[in-house]
Amino acid sequence: MFTYDSYHLPRTLREALELAATLPADGKVIAGGTDIVPYAREGRGGDVHFPVLLDVSKVAEFQGYAIENGRARLNAALPYQAFLEDPVLRENLPCMPGCAIWFADDQIREQATLAGNLVNASPAGDGAPPMMALNAEVELARLSGGEVTTRRLPLGEFITGPGRTVLEPGELVTAVICDALPGYGGSFQKVGQRRSLVISRVCAAALVKLDPTRHVFEDVRLALGGIAPVPLRLHDIEEMLRGKKITRRLVAEASVIPADRVASRTRVEYRRHVVRGFVEAAIEDALVACGAPVPSDRDREEAHA
Ligand SMILES: Cc1cc2nc3c(=O)[nH]c(=O)nc-3n(C[C@H](O)[C@H](O)[C@H](O)COP(=O)(O)OP(=O)(O)OC[C@H]3O[C@@H](n4cnc5c(N)ncnc54)[C@H](O)[C@@H]3O)c2cc1C
Repeated sequence: MFTYDSYHLPRTLREALELAATLPADGKVIAGGTDIVPYAREGRGGDVHFPVLLDVSKVAEFQGYAIENGRARLNAALPYQAFLEDPVLRENLPCMPGCAIWFADDQIREQATLAGNLVNASPAGDGAPPMMALNAEVELARLSGGEVTTRRLPLGEFITGPGRTVLEPGELVTAVICDALPGYGGSFQKVGQRRSLVISRVCAAALVKLDPTRHVFEDVRLALGGIAPVPLRLHDIEEMLRGKKITRRLVAEASVIPADRVASRTRVEYRRHVVRGFVEAAIEDALVACGAPVPSDRDREEAHA
């Protein structure tokens, strides 16, 4: 059974932060509620009782998004469905439609927020790898001496382990701020236990930009989730590809490298195998998405020989 004594639905950031400042240790912040409600309702955690529930889904400052100076500000109540449906977000965050289409189902996507997904910090969370690839920062706010103060952290510093972040009592996530990359090709790969409503075991995000000849990687961004306690950005592999002529051989060679980064405690060999295929598929899909000429199969066969 899921119960609570009081439920608050603030409409402004200040009101939300005032409530957050007095939230008891066993109180709970909730946005879409898609992590918390099923956990509590289905009794997986036994009977769950929160003395106070602070629902931040209607805070005015948490709605929508803005794109300015090459960065996208994704406010804290923005649901996953927006990454699938909104044409401006699709154009500017090219790896997010692929992430959203594999995320839960229509109903959950309408509720589930990117911010909640990142605070949940599950190694299986889908939002972290694409956001790592987009150089995301997490903006946090609190009341200090009656004033609203904010701090920003790179996502890689915000998530510190499975289910762990640096979020402090009294703080709320106000937004996730990431690169806007129109013109890049994007891809998201995911594998789990089943095809429908799948929770990732491993997921990969790729972003690729072509140089003016369209035969050379001008920029590459790669990140993986589910292979370690925290999501990983693959800077060295990006560096290996940047400025190089696009061939299947090169992509295949690069894709082998991250397999030895698998640091999960379960199904290590399986994850290694998946990682190699995923990185390769993610780069190739991202290339197709930005209209690169498809490199020949012969290159790839040579690479695997
Ligand atoms: C059927 C089903 C399918 C799912 N499929 C997927 C999937 O494919 N991929 C995936 O990654 N996840 C999946 N999930 C998990 C869940 O939907 C996501 O993690 C979701 O993004 C969480 O967002 P939310 O807004 O619902 O968070 P909530 O459940 O409201 O909160 C999650 C956590 O974030 C905190 N929080 C939320 N907003 C803030 C804020 N502004 N400031 C501070 N703390 C905050 C809460 O206190 C809580 O600890 C699934 C869940 C269900 C029930």
